[in-house]
Amino acid sequence: MGSEVNVRQATRIPLIYEGKASTFCPGCEHGLLLKLIARALVELGVADRAVMVGTVGCSSLGYMVLDTDFVQAPHGRAPAVMAGIKLVEPDSVVFAVQGDGDALSIGLQELIYAASRGTPMTVFMYNNMTFGMTGGQMAPTTIPGMRTTTTPRGRDARSSGGPMDACRILSAVDGPAYLRRAVLAPRPIRVKGRLFYSTREALEAYRIVVNAFRAQLMGGFSFVEFLGSCNVNWRMGIDESKAFVHDVSTKYFPPALCRDLYGLEGKV
Ligand code: SF4
Repeated sequence: MGSEVNVRQATRIPLIYEGKASTFCPGCEHGLLLKLIARALVELGVADRAVMVGTVGCSSLGYMVLDTDFVQAPHGRAPAVMAGIKLVEPDSVVFAVQGDGDALSIGLQELIYAASRGTPMTVFMYNNMTFGMTGGQMAPTTIPGMRTTTTPRGRDARSSGGPMDACRILSAVDGPAYLRRAVLAPRPIRVKGRLFYSTREALEAYRIVVNAFRAQLMGGFSFVEFLGSCNVNWRMGIDESKAFVHDVSTKYFPPALCRDLYGLEGKV
């Protein structure tokens, strides 16, 4: 019993509210991302000066889970609010988790100007190719043929354009120090009929989250696009949605290191 308590204490992430249930859907990777962020802030020793800026969408529920300072921004405006906080509190470590709809639809202007200025701050974009919280409408990242509540016959690129590539868009400006895209959803693995999930993606994602914060601490703008699932709005089972991220999402959004001005990759 004693050793059990010790293990629990050793693996506790102080920034996560213990025992408080989040309202994320079962199987969603939003909670995993917040845990990785919490661990990175603690291990980098900057948790006491971290400020999360809330977006609008499922990611905004982070305030229910993370015990950092928190400022809520209007829809899409998180990068503008983050820049303001950084201006008046330059020692703060400012971050947001934006959905693909929040970042690339309503908020693309704020995002690209913050990136262009190279404001030292960190944006994590959870790309699940849909507006999750509002019921699964088409997002800027929705892939061709994908059915959403606003494209019931599948997205038609001839009438609504093709999916936007955030890393390529942000690569077009000189300001960012660190631009990265990676898979967050764990790969489902079946062995003799039993279902397992790979831990490789979470370990890699943690390394990337740390790099993103390091880039900010070194004075640069960092942006990471994580490919995640939304099994509820995709109308899939949990394992099916995670396999979809690996098998389909990555074809349109291949994992890539798009910029690394400080040479951070490979150092964690
Ligand atoms: S609606 Fe989708 S993105 Fe939002 S919490 Fe549920 S699974 Fe996650």
